[in-house]
Amino acid sequence: MTRGMADAVVVMLTMDDVIMLPVELEKPIPLPKKGRRVRHEDGRTWTQHYTRVLLDELLPPRVPKDAIVYVGVMLEDLYPDPKWNFVFGEATLEKRVGVYSLARFFPEQPSKKADPEAQRLGIRRSAALLAHETGHAFGIEHCTEYECVMNGSNSLEELDRQFQELCPVDLQKLAWNIGFDPHARYERLRTFYRREGLDDLARWLDRRIEQLDTGVTPDSADSAH
Ligand SMILES: [Zn+2]
Ligand SMILES: [Zn+2]
Repeated sequence: MTRGMADAVVVMLTMDDVIMLPVELEKPIPLPKKGRRVRHEDGRTWTQHYTRVLLDELLPPRVPKDAIVYVGVMLEDLYPDPKWNFVFGEATLEKRVGVYSLARFFPEQPSKKADPEAQRLGIRRSAALLAHETGHAFGIEHCTEYECVMNGSNSLEELDRQFQELCPVDLQKLAWNIGFDPHARYERLRTFYRREGLDDLARWLDRRIEQLDTGVTPDSADSAH
């Protein structure tokens, strides 16, 4: 297992904390030759896969009967249309399948030594992407009201500016759809963020949990422990 694949597995396993439903990992499946293209840019050469082939042909026949959503997570780059440069991910709600690439979050490092800061950033971006796309799969559209993980983003810069968590409106939508307790979800997510060194997110959840417990909004991040 490569370093990037190991990180992808970590992120996949956190999805049960995000959606409060069991997540099962399946064995890797080979990527089709159809729709594959090679890109050259700035002296780099890499492979991309066409999302339509994956969403229309590869994944639908494999959706388990008891699955709500069946998601392909890959470490090779994707494109959604021959005219586009790339896409982070795409979902087809009617077929309950989605496909997401972590290629741009965990680029292959020339040196063997993993950079912990780069790993943390990769985990953060991947968790945001998967939370966002899974939100779509549960019928939540792009959010334009609040800073929210359901805001649309088309570049790493936009993704990094984006807030990592669901806004109150979208949290309610997801909680209604799945039937979880937001407090329990926050506790589980906080444990994950602490473990992965995403302390700013853990502190934000400290405040939200305090708010739920007391009904009072803490003044500032300083009041968190
Ligand atoms: Zn979206
Ligand atoms: Zn929102």
